Parts: sequence; C-alpha cells; structure tokens
Amino acid sequence: MPSPYAIPAQPVPAIPIVGSSKLFPVRRIWCVGRNYAEHAREMGSDPTREPPFFFAKPGDAVVPLGGTLTYPPTTQDLHHEVELAVAIGKAGRNLSPQEATGLVFGYAVALDMTRRDLQAEAKRTARPWDIAKGFDQSCPISAITTDVDREILASARISLSVNGVERQTALIGDMIWSVEECLAALSQLVELLPGDLLLTGTPAGVGPVIAGEQLHAVCEGIGELRIEYQA
Ligand code: MN
Repeated sequence: MPSPYAIPAQPVPAIPIVGSSKLFPVRRIWCVGRNYAEHAREMGSDPTREPPFFFAKPGDAVVPLGGTLTYPPTTQDLHHEVELAVAIGKAGRNLSPQEATGLVFGYAVALDMTRRDLQAEAKRTARPWDIAKGFDQSCPISAITTDVDREILASARISLSVNGVERQTALIGDMIWSVEECLAALSQLVELLPGDLLLTGTPAGVGPVIAGEQLHAVCEGIGELRIEYQA
C-alpha cells in the first residue's frame, strides 16, 4: 500500500517495558520545574508551595535505555537532572489527584538534560526554555516498570552519580508536589493521553557534564540508566 504521506513519516519513539516484549509509544514529554525544595533553593527560588509549572520536550527527545550520546551543540554548560518519569496509559482531563493515579501505566528513571547556559539566557531575556530543554537526545530514559506500589515508591531513593561519585540524591516522597498532584494540575491545562510522559522534577545537586564522563541514574524499585557523552 502506498504511503499516504508526502514526505517520510518518522517512526514513533518507543520505550521498552520490564518483563514485556511490547513497547511504550511516546507521545509528548512534559516536565515539572522546581519540585524539590533543595533544588529550588540552588536555582535561586523560594521553595514555597507555589502551584507546579510545566514545560515540554519533543517526544523524539527520548533515548531509550541510554548509551553513548553525542555532546549537544551550542552549549558550554550541559547539566544533568535525574528525575522520576511517569508513563501515562489512559486519557483524562480536569482530574483530581485520586483520579489521576488511574492514568499511570508505569514509571522509569530519566534525565532532563539541560543546556544551562541557554536556559540562563532565556530566563534573563524572558524568552521560552524550549531550546535549553527540548534539544535532540535530551531525555535518556530507562525501561518502564509497571505495577509499582505507591507507598513503596514514596520511600524509594532516586540518585545520580558521575564517574562513581554521587551528585544528586533524594527520596521520591521529598517532592513538593506528589506524582498524582502533578498529573492533576497538568490535566487542568491539557488533556493527558496515552503515551504522554511526565518528568517530575530533579533533586538538588544538578551540575555540568563533560565528554567522557559516565552517568549512572537509579531509582530504587523502578530502574537504572547509564549514559556517556562521546569524547
Ligand atoms: Mn528538570
């Protein structure tokens, strides 16, 4: 059958699922800003409980299972941000936090890689963050784990080490806004649909990555991820 498209259609980005031969097809990548108090402070903000705010990356920014990446162009200050990613399996909008839990398909550990120098310039000039956050390969992500107990998740530790030295660590329960509160807030702004991902914010300790360094991200009971930028 001939293609209905006038130009080549790109494949749907997809993430492996632990214990399954099926894949999770990615639609959009939503991200929460400043969702751990210590990180809000290190970025110069007051971690009072202001409503969560969101930004996005293109779905094809995912790098399933990590690996060796190309150091992105136009930055001298590429930062790591380790985050719990929530994979959405059902549609919903205007949800309560309790309703929002019903949309969760599974969880993964991801990196919200950030061109911090471009983000600082965007903040200074009151411009969008897209180019600082939504570049190619800006979202390495582990396989997705399903059937996660929410109580156990809250006590799980998320961490990131660089060349074996721990740089970021926190408990998932340390988040200012919980997973279901973030999903509920986002569902007031857009309709959540199957394939959406939500990155839930990063703990304190963000910092620069240089070529050749080995990054190891772990979320207990969820997954782990290794990346390295080509020298
Ligand atoms: Mn982030």
